[in-house]
Amino acid sequence: MTNVNYALYSRPGRELLCTGIGPTVSNAGDLSMLGPTRTGQMEARMSSGAQQVAIKCPACGTRANQQMWLVVDAADRPDLIEKLRHGGLRTFLCGKCGRPVTTTTSLLVDSRRRSPLLFAVDPAADANLTREQFFASAIIHHGRSAGTGDWTIPHATPIPHDLLAVAVDRDVDDDIAAYSAGTWRAESIALQKYGDWLRQAVHQRRDAALKAAVQALIKDAPDAAGFARVVRAHPVLLSEVADDFLATLQDVSEEDAGPEYERQVAEWRQLLRMCRRDGVEAVLPKLRDA
Ligand SMILES: [Zn+2]
Repeated sequence: MTNVNYALYSRPGRELLCTGIGPTVSNAGDLSMLGPTRTGQMEARMSSGAQQVAIKCPACGTRANQQMWLVVDAADRPDLIEKLRHGGLRTFLCGKCGRPVTTTTSLLVDSRRRSPLLFAVDPAADANLTREQFFASAIIHHGRSAGTGDWTIPHATPIPHDLLAVAVDRDVDDDIAAYSAGTWRAESIALQKYGDWLRQAVHQRRDAALKAAVQALIKDAPDAAGFARVVRAHPVLLSEVADDFLATLQDVSEEDAGPEYERQVAEWRQLLRMCRRDGVEAVLPKLRDA
């Protein structure tokens, strides 16, 4: 994990620059809080990580180094999760003018719940940089928690910084499922804001699922049996939104891909309409026998 490029966390065009590469990342934070007898062992398996970054105070222009947490894992630093709950992890006081400075450095959070990791993206980073930051943070998280062995990049849910305070105490996947099913209820202002984000997350996931489903149709459904398999594997195809999506594809293919392709998409739409009307089990088994 020593090859992580911490310059990744610099923010192009903004006054937040990293100090270098490699060993500047540390868990130095405040290990004393964990108690003197545990410190040595804790450090070896900690999966939280912080980095010194050079920051310029937006109020007075003073530059200073500040330790920013890049990875927070509830397993070894529950105190940092508690700080996140109160929005205190990204804000510190300028040493010169005393005004609060808040940074948007990306932050990977493992709240040790059933849902995947949460990744608060730096809004100043583009998609590529964000991917690289996530990868680097995931290595920090893994390197300190799991030791050696095979490693695959973990799944993480991207989330805005200001929703972390609420999200660390939620099972985000369950909430997204509840929103999707129409059973989500926000019982506080904070949860309403979180609910607005859930709506976006539901749409994003559905759009991604839809794209994957249509790709599967194009690739794996040259015949009726293939079509039935793809529909069973991608139930999103039975939604009205899928029909809108395929309608657009049909229009485009009519112009760009030729009449054969257009006929294929039209046939899929018709079969999917039958599935919606009569039920998948009434339609698909017949197709497989055909
Ligand atoms: Zn200042």
